[in-house]
Amino acid sequence: MFGPKTHCVVVVGAQWGDEGKGKVVDVLAERADLVVRYQGGANAGHTVDTGTGEFVLHQIPSGIIQGAVCLVGNGVVLDPETFFQELDGLVARGVKVEHRIFISDRAHLTLPYHKLLDQAREARERLGTTGRGIGPTYEDKYGRRGVRVGDLRDAGRAADLVAGRVAAANEMLTMLGARELADVAEHRRLVERLAPRLLPLAIDAGRVVYEALERGESVLLEGAQGALLDVDHGTYPYVTSSHTTAGGASVGAGIGPTAIDAVLGVVKAYTTRVGNGPLPTEAEPATAERIRKLGGEFGATTGRPRRCGWFDAVVVRYAVRVNGLTGLAVTKLDVLDTFAEIPVCVGYLLDGEAFDSMPADLDRIDRVKPIYETLPGWRQATGAARRLADLPPPARAYLDRLQDLARCPVRYVSVGTRRDQIIEVS
Ligand code: GDP
Repeated sequence: MFGPKTHCVVVVGAQWGDEGKGKVVDVLAERADLVVRYQGGANAGHTVDTGTGEFVLHQIPSGIIQGAVCLVGNGVVLDPETFFQELDGLVARGVKVEHRIFISDRAHLTLPYHKLLDQAREARERLGTTGRGIGPTYEDKYGRRGVRVGDLRDAGRAADLVAGRVAAANEMLTMLGARELADVAEHRRLVERLAPRLLPLAIDAGRVVYEALERGESVLLEGAQGALLDVDHGTYPYVTSSHTTAGGASVGAGIGPTAIDAVLGVVKAYTTRVGNGPLPTEAEPATAERIRKLGGEFGATTGRPRRCGWFDAVVVRYAVRVNGLTGLAVTKLDVLDTFAEIPVCVGYLLDGEAFDSMPADLDRIDRVKPIYETLPGWRQATGAARRLADLPPPARAYLDRLQDLARCPVRYVSVGTRRDQIIEVS
């Protein structure tokens, strides 16, 4: 991916998240000097299997495992407690983190009152959020009443800021009929306790990325969730609260869009989604269960079973467009190894007429009927393939069809959870 003309690469999910970005970032991070998370919060769950152990990361960029310097960008909302739990967990497993992880001083903090607000709202609205306070933290950010990492530099001001925010959150919690209110003293103690650990990591992250690129270093911008969960481009309101698409990478890492050289979209060879909201190619229950079992489709953050269905080329074409994808990484091809036939959605019918994009409104998305083309399966294990030529011809034909339909070249194919189970398409 990286080369003389490609120094800054964005990796985004091009479906509804959980596409295997953690693995792809881990593989690419081997050649990256800097890995930057640019949006989302502790609701993301990236799984990295090094071959000798599995790591699940929520807040820390997946590049930490490979030894890259990692940054949490300004676009991320940081839950400091889970961040340090995760960091301590990595240290306990022998991962070197000292001088290798830094946090933007512009990143907003997710505090316990955000989680209470999230849970109280979810009880009413049932959007399928993880209840980890991400939505309310972004609401505070855009409402210009958030608490940022850099605010902790002035302990007195931080204490007043947090006390004011807890009081306002409690008014809202009371209106929502929540059983539990936030405790001011507990929040003050938390901020006092965390500041001495957070502040030494706080930096102007955008400047660090800019200077790394000026020196000709390789920078990977790591997205969380997927294009169809982007707050603008996703299946609103069943979306996350941030910009998961490549435009968000520029804003959330603190660099201009012209600094980005390539955008790699990660897609599963089929489709999944966790939580509520539309999923046009959702398979009937027995097939969905078969895919779920074969693919281990249970959330890395919550353990929730993921809804499963066939590859949806309308979704991926849309993701190619809204992200400006320059390549695809197709993951989990091996999960389809035992299927005799594999349907692929090539387009939609909306009220009987061909419709070749993602409608904006739920009502129309609910009415689309996928048009399927059925491709032959390969019924052969693919986990040992390391070159395209190692794949059975029907598997290669499947990948060719996906890239034609998506209108974007396949650059990587992942055939198993392990780091080495990857094909780089030259
Ligand atoms: P992310 O959030 O996009 O990083 O995705 P997750 O980590 O939530 O989910 C991806 C899951 O698929 C993890 O358990 C990975 O170990 C696993 N995975 C990634 N690539 C492959 C693959 O090619 N084949 C198989 N069988 N599993 C994979």
